[in-house]
Amino acid sequence: MTSENPITDPYGRPIQYLRLSVTDRCNLRCHYCMPAGGIDYVKRSMLLSYEEMYRLVNLLSEHGVGKLRITGGEPFVRKDLMKFLASISGLKNLKKISITSNGVFLGEYLPGLKDLGINSINLSLDSLDRKRFNEITRRDDFEKVMDTFHALIDLDFMVKINMVVMEGVNEHEINPMAELAMRYPISVRFIEEMPFNGGSGRQPTLRWNHVKIKESLHQHFGKLVPVASEKDSTAERFRAEDMPGDLGIIAAYSRTFCGTCNRIRIGATGGFRTCLYGPEVLNFRDFMRSGHSDDALIEAFKKVIEKRARNGLQAEKLAKEKSTSMSILGG
Ligand code: SF4
Repeated sequence: MTSENPITDPYGRPIQYLRLSVTDRCNLRCHYCMPAGGIDYVKRSMLLSYEEMYRLVNLLSEHGVGKLRITGGEPFVRKDLMKFLASISGLKNLKKISITSNGVFLGEYLPGLKDLGINSINLSLDSLDRKRFNEITRRDDFEKVMDTFHALIDLDFMVKINMVVMEGVNEHEINPMAELAMRYPISVRFIEEMPFNGGSGRQPTLRWNHVKIKESLHQHFGKLVPVASEKDSTAERFRAEDMPGDLGIIAAYSRTFCGTCNRIRIGATGGFRTCLYGPEVLNFRDFMRSGHSDDALIEAFKKVIEKRARNGLQAEKLAKEKSTSMSILGG
């Protein structure tokens, strides 16, 4: 089996895109993701090893999962990540590898990523104001992130900026952030805030939802022309006149795009989710460590895909834990 004929769920959605979290740890403390004191990180032995991740990525790529996003926590806090990326970048059934990072440590690895052919980076950036950046992330790393941003541009990476829009925090920065797409050939995406904050106490209100974000961009830019997106894209994309880049809105809490969802998630401890909002349905770490074969692993995989929820609203009803930190879920 190859990426040409993937495994499909009961609603006919092909499973083609794995979001793999390589660590639950992060160097930042964004309050829409975790409390100020962080979360209870697991012992290293409880994390998937690189060998176990390689086995999973390879096996799933042979069964139709040809697209991989490396996430965390912050992927670059895990030691030897580049060696792991080098090992999977040679897998023939893996068509695309991309990375989501907060950009603080990313800069020094950019030339190496280019050499591996990994040139699609999502940069999490929720403010262009140093003081507000510090308030949101509880760390003083704004300059480092902006240096990484400019290095990404200079080295011609495919850059998407992910800004989480938080009511009463940064909604007034939507338009200044969008202006970056007037200056650079990048995608600036605005994401509805989700409840995955590890119990940091924030309760997203959704007042700044995809409709309101769009209104703000329309008021600022006037006419916005829709831009075609890949079938499985979560972003509704637009472009203003003479804009080298583009803008995207991700209705992550409204969940307007579940009908074409081809995404699955494996957390850093091996937890498998068929939906971001759903419960852990299988633990691949435990499954592998109890000596099961690849065939048994794929059979177990198929079984849980057969029970996949129709959408994120249905999946959320099945989840006992509603505010697991995004650093655990892997985004
Ligand atoms: S909410 Fe769940 S089903 Fe909907 S797009 Fe996200 S992961 Fe897919």
